[in-house]
Amino acid sequence: KKKIAVMTSGGDSPGMSGAVRAVIRQTIASGCVAYAVYEGYQGLVDGGEMIKQMQWEDVRGWLSEGGTLIGTARCMDFHERAGRLKAANNMIEKGIDALVICGGDGSLTGADRFRSEWPSLVEELVATGKRREEEVKPFKHLNIVGLVGSIDNDLSSTDATIGCYSSLDRICNAIDTIDSTAFSHQRAFVIEVMGRHCGWLALMAGVSCGADFVFIPENPPSENWEDEMCSVIKKHRELGKRKTTVIVAEGAHDQELHPISPSRVKDLLSKRVGLDTRVTTLGHVQRGGPPAAYDRMLATLQGVEAVKAVLEATPETPSPVICIVENKIVRKNLMEAVKLTKQVAADIESKNFKKAMEGRDAEFSE
Ligand code: ADP
Repeated sequence: KKKIAVMTSGGDSPGMSGAVRAVIRQTIASGCVAYAVYEGYQGLVDGGEMIKQMQWEDVRGWLSEGGTLIGTARCMDFHERAGRLKAANNMIEKGIDALVICGGDGSLTGADRFRSEWPSLVEELVATGKRREEEVKPFKHLNIVGLVGSIDNDLSSTDATIGCYSSLDRICNAIDTIDSTAFSHQRAFVIEVMGRHCGWLALMAGVSCGADFVFIPENPPSENWEDEMCSVIKKHRELGKRKTTVIVAEGAHDQELHPISPSRVKDLLSKRVGLDTRVTTLGHVQRGGPPAAYDRMLATLQGVEAVKAVLEATPETPSPVICIVENKIVRKNLMEAVKLTKQVAADIESKNFKKAMEGRDAEFSE
C-alpha cells in the first residue's frame, strides 16, 4: 500500500488543520496509508514518534480548528544537507515516498529542493551503509505536492491561499469594532495589519471597511504623500465623516523604501489634521482562530486534489502546487509559482514598483 505523509510548515494559517484532515481522509479513501509529520521539517529530521500513522477518526473535528494541530516550525536543520539526509532516512524507514506540504513559499522551496536531491540522498544512505540497496529500490523517487497556507495571500499563481479570507474576516471584524468607538469620539485610527511583501490584506480590508487611506508595499505613495494623505482626510471630515481609518500594511514604505510606520502616520493626523488619533496593531489575532467557511472549503477541495496529484504523478512530472484560479481548483508548477512570488518581492526591493504591481495583476488575471 502506498504511504502518503502530510506536513504543515512555516507560518501557520487558519485552514491548515482542515487541509491536513482532507489529505489524510482522501489518502485513506484511496486505499493508501496516511501519515502526519509533526512540527514541520523538524519532525521529518527527528523521525520516530514525530511521523505518525493517522486514522480517519484522528482528524475528526479538525475542519473548524484554527492554526495547525500537527504543529509547525521553522527548522534550521532542513537548510543543511545533513538534515535532509536524516529526513530521507526517516521517510524510507517508514516506507513513505510521497509528501504533501502545506506552507508558504519558503516551505515549498525546501520541498522542491528535497525532491531534486532525493536520488543523491538515497545513494548516500546506501554508500554509507545506513540502508541496503534492495531496501531503497522502491524509493528511487520522491513525490512532492504543495498546498499554500498563508494569511498574506502572497503566493503567485493562485487567487487565494488557505487562511487569507479568515484573516481578512478577522481584520474586518476588528475594524468594525474600532469604528464604533472612533465614531463616538470622532477619532482617527491607524491600523497596522500583517503582510510583509504583500499588501493584499491591507488593500482588501481597506475596500471592505471603507478606509480613508491604505499603505501597501507594492504601490508606495507619491513623494508628497504626507500632504496628500492629510488633504484627503481633511476633505473626508469636511464632507461630514466622524471617523477616520488609515490602514498600514506591516511592510509599507515610501518610494525610497523607508518604512511608513503607524506612529508616523498618527503624528501627521494629530499634528497636521488636528485629529485625536490612536494606533492599533492587530497582531496575531489576524492569524489565529477558526477558519472562515471559504478557507474550510479551499482546504478540503485542495487537500483532496493534492492526494489525486500524488497518485497521478510520474518521476517526470514537475512538483505541482494546488491553486485556485477563477474558482477552479488547478495544479500549477510549484517552482514556477515560487519564482513568480520571489520576483514580485525582488521588484519591490529594487524599487521597480510598476513591475511589482504588474506581477500582482498577472497573478489574478492569469
Ligand atoms: P514559509 O513557508 O511560511 O515561507 P519559511 O520561509 O520560514 O516559511 O520556511 C519554513 C521552513 O522551510 C524553514 O524553516 C526551513 O526548514 C524550510 N526551508 C525554507 N527554505 C528552504 C530552502 N531553501 N532549503 C531547505 N529548506 C528550506
